[in-house]
Amino acid sequence: MKSVIVIVFTLLSFVSYVHAQKSCGTAGYWQEQLSANPLLGERYQHISNAANNIAKKESGALVSDLTILIPVVVHVVYNSESQRISKAQIQTQIDALNNDFGKLNADTINIPKPFAPLAVDCKIQFALAKVDPDGYATTGIVYTKTNETGWKQDDKMKFSSSGGDDAWNSRYYLNIWVCNLSKSLLGYSTFPGSDVLKDGVVIRTDVFGTIGNESTAYSRGRTTTHEVGHWLNLKHLWGDTDCGDDGVDDTPPQKTYNTGCSSFPKITAGSCNNSGTGDMFMNYMDFSDDACILMFTYGQKQRMRTLFDSGGARADILQSYALKEAWKTKPVAEDTLASTTSIIIYPNPSVNEIYFRDSDGKKIIPDEYRVYDVKGKLLIYGAKHAFVNIARLTPGIYFSRIQYAGEQRVIKFVKN
Ligand SMILES: [Zn+2]
Repeated sequence: MKSVIVIVFTLLSFVSYVHAQKSCGTAGYWQEQLSANPLLGERYQHISNAANNIAKKESGALVSDLTILIPVVVHVVYNSESQRISKAQIQTQIDALNNDFGKLNADTINIPKPFAPLAVDCKIQFALAKVDPDGYATTGIVYTKTNETGWKQDDKMKFSSSGGDDAWNSRYYLNIWVCNLSKSLLGYSTFPGSDVLKDGVVIRTDVFGTIGNESTAYSRGRTTTHEVGHWLNLKHLWGDTDCGDDGVDDTPPQKTYNTGCSSFPKITAGSCNNSGTGDMFMNYMDFSDDACILMFTYGQKQRMRTLFDSGGARADILQSYALKEAWKTKPVAEDTLASTTSIIIYPNPSVNEIYFRDSDGKKIIPDEYRVYDVKGKLLIYGAKHAFVNIARLTPGIYFSRIQYAGEQRVIKFVKN
């Protein structure tokens, strides 16, 4: 018994050690989640069995090959301004996901010949959400300023109570948190069946997207492709153990992960039998550099798509309203708030009236002002007044939209 414990402990240390060295923290994270919550293990076993059964039963024919469109919300949790990545950078990541999952990249010609027939278009695509969980229009991006300077794979970025940003309902959205993860970690993901408040992927800011991206080895957005692969139930090719199983038939077994860019064929002496073609190091679920991972296989596609079958762990996402039309209107998009607050409301909170001040502290008189509640209902409006009387409002959060010096500004304030 003692020796078993020692072996298990050694194995877990090995897993942590491996992931401290390089890139993806998903395997270590998942072990921690399973240890903390035995019910999660049972739930995941059902999902896993479904994937295995269908993979065997169908062997070759997918039930449906319609394109699955996944709504995405990107939570940018930033401390410094450089971590507040642009919308354009975020869009390049969505594009990269679509290219990778759609087998649309020009570099797929680099897939070695014996593996080329296995590379597929997964018919899974992604788009930034247009509607938030409350029915309001959104850009699908939430910027959250935080005092935290660095993050670990402990999920704190997923909760506003710990300086992060709360998940949107993961039945209908893929949540992606972009934050300053510690340098040994590029990203990590949950597997299907996880706690809904934590469900999603976390990516280090400097490897997200394909522009404004500081990391040369990971500049093609493929860390996110890899982590979203996990979110869609794909495992590492080596099954996180020596010649382990990834639950997919057409990826050859391999001893462990590959890094950098390997030459084909990559055969490790004394390793698992992989029939002369060696490791599939160019698969998105290996650890090779972005420039050298190029494909998902048919078996991986099937394993991912099983989640969307009737009763599947991610089937609800097909019913998502997130890419339809918003049914409520707001005075402002949340994400414009941070950039339009060079004018300050004071006092804030206030009981009877509010005044306006510019960034130099000088009192200003707006050309026009409007006050809305959080549902976008116009409550007060006027022009050319030094202050706005808010005495009759019930206590709560409000937005003031003012016209001043030819520009519109929106400022949040609290009525006490
Ligand atoms: Zn991984």
